[in-house]
Amino acid sequence: MRFKLLSLEEILHKSPEDIERAVREWIASDGLSSVSNFSCKAPAEGAERVLWLCPACGALHSIRSHGDELFCRDCSAAWRIDANQRICWKSTTQRPHADLPTLRAWIDLQAEAIQLRSAYSPQEKALFPPDRATIWQRDEHGWQALGKRDLALTKTSIRLIGHDSRQKIALKSAEGFVDHFNRYSEFSGAGQRYRIRFEHECSFRWIQTLAILADYEKGATA
Ligand SMILES: [Zn+2]
Repeated sequence: MRFKLLSLEEILHKSPEDIERAVREWIASDGLSSVSNFSCKAPAEGAERVLWLCPACGALHSIRSHGDELFCRDCSAAWRIDANQRICWKSTTQRPHADLPTLRAWIDLQAEAIQLRSAYSPQEKALFPPDRATIWQRDEHGWQALGKRDLALTKTSIRLIGHDSRQKIALKSAEGFVDHFNRYSEFSGAGQRYRIRFEHECSFRWIQTLAILADYEKGATA
């Protein structure tokens, strides 16, 4: 375990924003892959909860895990991962376009993919194909099932698209998007609370995209 210490002098002389930035940068730095001796029987298990982009073929939600292996259902690319989250390329088919030495690098690659789509996408166009999900909405009696919807995210809104209904929730009104241990996600928008369960069981693409869009929004209003 490594620690970062800020001296009293630094604390006194840095602005609160600079101190927060220093803490964020430290948290974001990848310390795990450089420390040795972690061990785990199945270090890959569950990694598809955060790895939603195949770096070899670009497919969404095609990564699966087994033991210490990650593989793509679509293109059969495969990787091995150790308990320190170090990754090595395994399959003999197509090579991935990017060199991904760590899980962190893979997640960063996903963030770059979102940034690229956001940069070139019109305001009202869905950044990714819609995600099929089961939706609930909370009222005074509890959670009411709305059934299946397609959920789409644009740079300005969340769209809930049913066979006979369409709802548009402005991102400015959306807040508190949280994941409940991969079982379902919740968020508030347009004065309502929603619960969603994605069929692909991975809410991390939404979490990553909403964080990036929120940063753009901050930059635009700064
Ligand atoms: Zn693939």
